[in-house]
Amino acid sequence: RFISLEGGEGTGKSTQAKALAKAIESKGITVHLTREPGGTPGAEIIRNLLLTGQEDKWNMRTEALLFAAARAEHCQSLIEPALEKDEWIISDRFIDSSRAYQSVSGQLNDEDIMALHRVGSCGLMPHRTFILDLPEEVAARRADARDRGDSDRIGGRDSDYHHSVMSKFREYAKDEPGRIKLIDAAESQEDITANLLHDLSDLLD
Ligand code: C5P
Repeated sequence: RFISLEGGEGTGKSTQAKALAKAIESKGITVHLTREPGGTPGAEIIRNLLLTGQEDKWNMRTEALLFAAARAEHCQSLIEPALEKDEWIISDRFIDSSRAYQSVSGQLNDEDIMALHRVGSCGLMPHRTFILDLPEEVAARRADARDRGDSDRIGGRDSDYHHSVMSKFREYAKDEPGRIKLIDAAESQEDITANLLHDLSDLLD
């Protein structure tokens, strides 16, 4: 099974991805904990191109192509082979991040981003996607505390930007209630993990 976690920075995605992987592994299932952009050696090289150095160094369409290229690598080298073996994938971000972040500039729309995904990654979609939802101010405070001195970020960090990204995520959850679940990320870490596992009970049977 393929699970993705999505949400803005500072919403606790990585912590939950780890906790979820551990809980599923304890049931005797092989789990690959991975992330985007990145997750395989080639995709990590593309991640470096995207996330290090000067912000906004890529044009928006170039950036969208690089994210799609990293995902193509991730899908072919890790996700598809694992799914064929009935192993689980838990990915910290996937296509919904591209839909939310790469469309925020207005230069690309959802259709464009899904077209890149079809060409690069055969349109592979997760079985379940969790969007960790936290009021933007709280998420920004957490991300700032974590990233102090870290310039590894792209895309600008003003609150309007984060607000637009989160509104897009919430829209996707409304449009695809079967795949995408909105999770209250203000609860305790243990409660959030329990909620995720509860929601996965149909896939774990
Ligand atoms: O997962 P994490 O918060 O570390 O993501 C790193 C950064 O990459 C985020 O700040 C986000 O702005 C950006 N990103 C993006 N488009 C994606 C995935 C991540 O702009 N498809």
